[in-house]
Amino acid sequence: MRDRQTSVVVLGGGPGGYEAALVAAHLGAAVTVVDRDGLGGAAVLTDCVPSKALISTSHAVSRTEVAGGLVRIDGVERGPEAVLDLGAVNERILDLAAAQSRDIEQRLETVGVRVCRGVGRLVTPARVSLELDSGPTEELAADVVLVATGATPRIMGSALPDGERILTWQQLYTLAEVPPRLIVVGSGVTGAELAGAYLGLGGEVVLVSSRDRVLPGEDADAATVIEDVFRRRGMQVMNNARAAGATRSGDEVLVTLEDGREITGSHVLLAVGSIPATRGLGLAEAGVALTDSGHIRVDRVSRTSVRGVYAAGDCTGVLPLASVAAMQGRIAMSHALGDMVAPLNLRVVSANIFTDPEISTVGCCQRDIDEGRVAARAVMLPLSANPRAKMQNELDGFVKLFAATGSDSIVGGVVVGPQASELIFPVALAVQHRLTVDQMASTITIYPSLSGSIAEAARRLHTSE
Ligand SMILES: Cc1cc2nc3c(=O)[nH]c(=O)nc-3n(C[C@H](O)[C@H](O)[C@H](O)COP(=O)(O)OP(=O)(O)OC[C@H]3O[C@@H](n4cnc5c(N)ncnc54)[C@H](O)[C@@H]3O)c2cc1C
Repeated sequence: MRDRQTSVVVLGGGPGGYEAALVAAHLGAAVTVVDRDGLGGAAVLTDCVPSKALISTSHAVSRTEVAGGLVRIDGVERGPEAVLDLGAVNERILDLAAAQSRDIEQRLETVGVRVCRGVGRLVTPARVSLELDSGPTEELAADVVLVATGATPRIMGSALPDGERILTWQQLYTLAEVPPRLIVVGSGVTGAELAGAYLGLGGEVVLVSSRDRVLPGEDADAATVIEDVFRRRGMQVMNNARAAGATRSGDEVLVTLEDGREITGSHVLLAVGSIPATRGLGLAEAGVALTDSGHIRVDRVSRTSVRGVYAAGDCTGVLPLASVAAMQGRIAMSHALGDMVAPLNLRVVSANIFTDPEISTVGCCQRDIDEGRVAARAVMLPLSANPRAKMQNELDGFVKLFAATGSDSIVGGVVVGPQASELIFPVALAVQHRLTVDQMASTITIYPSLSGSIAEAARRLHTSE
């Protein structure tokens, strides 16, 4: 037992950093968090929170279309573009993000964490220099350092953002009007979510995908549903189309594809991935091992290659989710401060893509089974057969469950549907606790409900031997 408080310095106040700081303070350490942009990090200020708030607005607008199939309101002319004030929507979003950032800061201060605005870097593994916005540079001794500096949008040299018409996802919230014709470059999670959102808000959207379908890394059946829905709602999806660059000319943007084709629009959103924010932190000099992509190498308890230096979140490249960043940060502090700790288990991480419908996944995936890494059986039930989905007029989607061959325990699942992010939880519980298909199937669900399809999928996986 030390006779003085352990000192912990956290670089970066996103979910990786602030959740770690809460745990460290709870375990009795003297904690300093330094953040360049504000507590909550990119997750709260520019990425998750703003995008999900925008998507909720878009869903609210789209729901009126779904309702159009259920009710007839005489005398009401519907048209989202006629009523939507994007300036006001964005103001609300930025206020929401700022308020959440303040809440996090207050929470940290309440538990005794010192919160500083500025930039930190390692001088040695046990000394950190803080260039504070409020004054001169400070040097702190640290028993434990956690690096949780996140990532930033990848910028193509041939498509430099101007913050007005050529935009990264972090620059969207100053737009006063829905882009009349938005070209989204990149059809990964961020590109697909935001393309869907602006389409729902009433804009014309062209989605440029370098692969043969959108969401290339995801369950192929789920991606097909989303691509079909996008096209049906009027989005122009261009597959096998790799963007070479983007330029602006007055109120127009021009995106050039590698095969020479050109697309014109009013705005372009670049969603071509992220790069870790690990430069200039003194990591290599302190002996911290990085990968070729610049991510910090960590093990399952968030240790780097240097004793006393931990890392969490997007700067590690483990899995770019706020939930995972937070868990890595908590694990790091529990480990560093000698508390009970379970190593990070990616097998049980639920992930959601906030398109409309949403795609939620947990556990093993179809590719694991198809490529022989997991011995399991799959059942897929379309939502169009679910009575509640029919009543709600929300028929796009499915429930897919994977059961291990032999043990019949549930090892994974995919839900595509409205609020799939809420529906995945029973599947996640089943995967985490290795429930069998029969245990899932014997649980009585609400009638009528979308979750009824999850139990029904489990019943279909029942084997009599
Ligand atoms: C558009 C979009 C939507 C997303 N939506 C979701 C979602 O719905 N759900 C989900 O789970 N994940 C989502 N993600 C992923 C999620 O945002 C990240 O996984 C998460 O932000 C990672 O947290 P972090 O703590 O590693 O870093 P960040 O949230 O990036 O925070 C890092 C912080 O470190 C600060 N910093 C950097 N360098 C220094 C330095 N030298 N000194 C001090 N401070 C520094 C930065 O200013 C920043 O505030 C989304 C990502 C994007 C791009």
